[in-house]
Amino acid sequence: MSPAPPEPASGTPSPPDVLDLVVIPGDGIGPELVDSALQVLERVAALDGFTYELTTVDAGAGAYRSAGRALPEDALERLRAADGVLKGPVGLPEVRHPDGTEAGLLGGLLRLGLDTFANVRPMRLLPGVTGATRHGPGEIDYVVVRENTEGLYLSRGAGAATPHAAADQLMVTRVGTERVVRYAFDLARKRSGAAADGVRRVTCVDKSNVLRSYALFRRVFDEVAEAYPDVETEHLYADAAAHDLVARPQCFDVLVMENFLGDVLSDLGAATVGGLGMCGSLNVGADAAYAEPVHGSAPDIAGQGLANPLSQILSLALLLDHASRPSAGDRVRRAVESALSGGGIELSDRGRPVRGTGSVTAAVCEALST
Ligand code: ATP
Repeated sequence: MSPAPPEPASGTPSPPDVLDLVVIPGDGIGPELVDSALQVLERVAALDGFTYELTTVDAGAGAYRSAGRALPEDALERLRAADGVLKGPVGLPEVRHPDGTEAGLLGGLLRLGLDTFANVRPMRLLPGVTGATRHGPGEIDYVVVRENTEGLYLSRGAGAATPHAAADQLMVTRVGTERVVRYAFDLARKRSGAAADGVRRVTCVDKSNVLRSYALFRRVFDEVAEAYPDVETEHLYADAAAHDLVARPQCFDVLVMENFLGDVLSDLGAATVGGLGMCGSLNVGADAAYAEPVHGSAPDIAGQGLANPLSQILSLALLLDHASRPSAGDRVRRAVESALSGGGIELSDRGRPVRGTGSVTAAVCEALST
């Protein structure tokens, strides 16, 4: 009789035999980025020894224009049942509601519909990439954990407005804050600390000196932190955080913040690590997850081979980690680093691949196999 397979370490779910993945190609540069990530997936699956099944769901502004809705009727159920979802960016400037706001965006539908309460945005300056600050590779390596289901954006489309005045509300709840802060501390425990000193640290970013909602966020952060005495805590007001993310990014490990602040500060972080095209993200909840680049659909460069697909490829790596295939996620990240440092990928000052989108995909696939 063959020996029983080893039990997975406690808390580590065993990977499914066949990974059930859903793909949303999206709009603008979305389809070309997703195509690139799927080529990388095919290669890494063969190397890592797993199989997967793909289902494509048409969603976003293109779907809104052709089918009258941004997300098919039963899509949320399908996405929840999957082991993970790889989503391209969505949105087309010409697809609008009668009131002028953009139609076909999926942020609210997916984040609220799937209750993916944490948006995890790693910021790493990789070898061969020039960021907007004087820092070098290895000095910027932190994660922004953005609360994803409440905050200022919960008011999306629901604020009060007359032609002369408009108001939106910033909603912070105890339960919503607790779960995202806990996620940030658990993440810090899995990392090896800040680049500068190796200290595991979670930074709470808010404007608690001005707004009550942010004061509640900070109070709940402090309460949750008590259960993590092994992780250092830090508080920063959002304006100081914007300054320090440029001046001393090496001191950060994990940062947690309200939705709107996370949206703004992670774009600032992106500039320090080579631009939006270098940044993937994972939206994660208790029973669903989807990975997507942090940027939009960049219609200005769609279809021209100018987009950097690393944001989508690094999103794929996050999805593989989440789907209990961390060794595959690591392989993808190592391949990206080696393709960048070996010169297989060259990026312009604007963060665009000098030899085109396809050359980046090819360089990552080649680095995977070597
Ligand atoms: P959103 O509000 O949906 O995030 P946005 O209006 O901020 O979108 P993006 O679509 O993110 O705009 O594009 C901002 C700029 O960054 C554009 O000039 C675009 O061409 C560029 N850009 C975005 N993603 C990439 C990428 N992967 N590679 C190269 N350039 C990109």
